[in-house]
Amino acid sequence: MADYEISSPYASDFIKHEEILETLEYAERHKNDTVLIDEILNKAKPKREGKKLSCVGLSHREASVLLACEDPEKNAEMIALAEEIKREFYGNRIVLFAPLYLSNYCINGCLYCPYHLKNKHIPRKKLSQEEIRAEVIALQDMGHKRLAIEAGEDPVHNPIDYILESIETIYSIKHKNGAIRRVNVNIAATTVEEYKLLKDAGIGTYILFQETYHKDGYEHLHPTGPKKDYAWHTEAMDRAMQAGIDDVGLGVLFGLDKYRYEFAALLMHAEHLEAVYGVGPHTISVPRVKKAEDIDPAAFDNSLTDELFTKLIACIRIAVPYTGMIISTRESEAVREQALRMGISQISGGSRTSVGGYAEAERPHDTEQFDVSDQRTLDEVVDWLMKLEYIPSFCTACYRAGRTGDRFMELCKSGQISNCCHPNALLTLKEYLMDYASETTKKRGEELILKELANIPTDNVREKTREWIEKINSGERDFRF
Ligand code: SF4
Ligand code: SF4
Repeated sequence: MADYEISSPYASDFIKHEEILETLEYAERHKNDTVLIDEILNKAKPKREGKKLSCVGLSHREASVLLACEDPEKNAEMIALAEEIKREFYGNRIVLFAPLYLSNYCINGCLYCPYHLKNKHIPRKKLSQEEIRAEVIALQDMGHKRLAIEAGEDPVHNPIDYILESIETIYSIKHKNGAIRRVNVNIAATTVEEYKLLKDAGIGTYILFQETYHKDGYEHLHPTGPKKDYAWHTEAMDRAMQAGIDDVGLGVLFGLDKYRYEFAALLMHAEHLEAVYGVGPHTISVPRVKKAEDIDPAAFDNSLTDELFTKLIACIRIAVPYTGMIISTRESEAVREQALRMGISQISGGSRTSVGGYAEAERPHDTEQFDVSDQRTLDEVVDWLMKLEYIPSFCTACYRAGRTGDRFMELCKSGQISNCCHPNALLTLKEYLMDYASETTKKRGEELILKELANIPTDNVREKTREWIEKINSGERDFRF
């Protein structure tokens, strides 16, 4: 094995190019080695000890063999295993969130993003605190409780004080029965000091997509601006964790470079965080390059088919069973439906990817970061999920109960998640039905709640959930386990 230093603080050691190349070569050599593939699949299967169910996950090498496999029978077993892990650990709950774009001012030169500095046709916009209020009220009126804020990197227009003030504004807005209960933050790599400020502001997850782990490719795609520094960007999660943020979200922009390379590197990054901080990434996002103003996805020749994309999701699910997986409205309804089965646990709904898009009656396109494939309303997405027999969840309980980082992982690994996530999903769905749902959605949701109450395993938790649902019926809000 190449000299891969998992615990090193340097990106060049924990994302080691030679190790990735050797991994890809190893995976290619063993891609149809059914004996090895069986061993890997067996290792990854959920195992039960008494009441406790656990999974050990896979190394980046093992998972890369699965991804490379071309044997249709083994691929079918792989998909079945991903579905089993998804079912056992996440049940049929899907957490919903929305992105909120604060500003598209940006001094970076990312070739795949319309907000890059040299794009002179896109209008630049930064929301004032008053405009943020209007956006948040519009999001609350849809029923959202969990946001991911997004802003370009620009120390003049979007300094950390602006981000902090915006977070404070978002948390402070109480409107009818609405409240944003968790703000995740997706802003540029920054210093330990600024990450500490974000932690103190009460953020949920700090999200930063790597875009590509391939250093040469990365430097080509980021010709100008602070983001061109590969090490600074790749080591950002280390600084965030050193600052005490223990829920971090990784992601790759699939299509920029070879997907097998990105996959192995993404898992190496997760292994590094687990080895050094005792907790792996809280979430992994799987965006694919999409069309946008000034951006043609055909300019990036590493696009992957829907079939490969969903297999990749299944392989991530198997490799890191305790990490939440996110898919956005970049993907169509059909792709999202498949992805949900194979491992996705969180989706955005009713998203607008422009700055100030929610307060507008019609979806504006002038400042969009990318084309939204799934343009349905949140209510339509909620109803669709229920038709597919998922429970749409607006739960934010763990973060608010201080169950982050290793305490959150403990909950996942203890087997108690069905006594926690499941009732919380029902409680938050009930709130949604009472406050925001259309009549059709409400009817379907009430039936679903009745049916799903019976699936809460522990008697006292089931009874408490029933009691709280009655209280929500009478106008009380915000119950959680
Ligand atoms: Fe700026 Fe982010 Fe777009 Fe790059 S990807 S141009 S950093 S907003
Ligand atoms: Fe997520 Fe925790 Fe809620 Fe489960 S209980 S859905 S892990 S926030």
